[in-house]
Amino acid sequence: MSNESWFVVNKVAEGVTQIAEPLHAENIKSYLVEGDRYVAVIDTGLGVGDFRGLVRECSEREPIVLLTHAHWDHIGGACAFPEVLVHPSEAYAVRRGVPNAMMRTLFGEEAIRPTALPAWFDVNTAAIPGCEPTGALNAGDRIELGGRSLEVLHTPGHSPGGVSLYDRATGILFAGDAINYGGIWLYLPRSDAAAYRATLQRLVEFIETHDVRAIYSAHADVPLEPAHVREARDAYEEIWTGERTPDSHEQFDIGFPERVPSDVFECGRFTFLLGSGRYGAWQSTSA
Ligand SMILES: [Zn+2]
Ligand SMILES: [Zn+2]
Repeated sequence: MSNESWFVVNKVAEGVTQIAEPLHAENIKSYLVEGDRYVAVIDTGLGVGDFRGLVRECSEREPIVLLTHAHWDHIGGACAFPEVLVHPSEAYAVRRGVPNAMMRTLFGEEAIRPTALPAWFDVNTAAIPGCEPTGALNAGDRIELGGRSLEVLHTPGHSPGGVSLYDRATGILFAGDAINYGGIWLYLPRSDAAAYRATLQRLVEFIETHDVRAIYSAHADVPLEPAHVREARDAYEEIWTGERTPDSHEQFDIGFPERVPSDVFECGRFTFLLGSGRYGAWQSTSA
C-alpha cells in the first residue's frame, strides 16, 4: 500500500510531527513527539493506511502509543505497536476494537468520496483490531521520552477517559477531542456535560499557570490559540446557567436504535452539541 496517497505529514515544531488524514470528513490528526530515547505517538488515526510503517519512516526511536481517548477515529493503528497507554476508563474500548459492521457506517459517502478511498482499503472487510493496553495514563503522570516529557491532564467530558498531554519543551498542549474549533460533541452515550464544565475550567487554569504556546487538537483547524479556551469556558458557563438558549435542535443518529435529541449552541469559534436535558439547570438528577 502507498501511504503517500492517504497521510499528510508535517513537522509543526521541534521534534513534533503531525500526521493528518484529510480525505475523510473527520480530518483526524495524530502526532509524533520525539525525545532522545523514545517517540510518543499521540493517537493512531482511522485504520486506513499503514500507520505503524509511517511512524517507522518518521523516526528510528522506539514508539510508545499514548491515546487521548479510545474513540474509533483515534485507535486505528494502535494495536500494531508494542506499547499502548490509555486512561483506565477507556481500556475496554481498545480491547474491543471496531468491528466491520461499524466501520462500514463510518466510511459512507457522507464521510468520504468513494473515489478517495485507497484501492487497498476494502470497506466490506475493514476492521480495527483490539488489543490489551500495556499501561495506563492517569492525571499527573509524566511520560519520559529522554530530554523531554509529556505531562498528563485528565480532561473528561467528551469521553470519560479523555486526556491532554503537555510538552513543556515546545509549550504545546495536545488536546485530543477535549477542545477544538468547530463542533464539540457532548451528547455521546458516555459523554458527561458536567465533567466537561470542570475540564474547561481546568484547561483555563492550566493555561494561566503554564507557558502554553499552542494547542494541537485532533480535529478541525490547528493550532488553537490558548487564549480562545477562555472564550469556550465563558460561553459554556452561559449555556450552563441558562443565559444562552440553543440555536437549534438536532436528532443525531449515532448507530443506536433511537436518535439522540440534542441542543446545538453556536458560540463563535466553538459549537457545543449537548444531549437535551442532560446539562445545566435542566440536568436530570437520575442521569
Ligand atoms: Zn472522540
Ligand atoms: Zn475524534
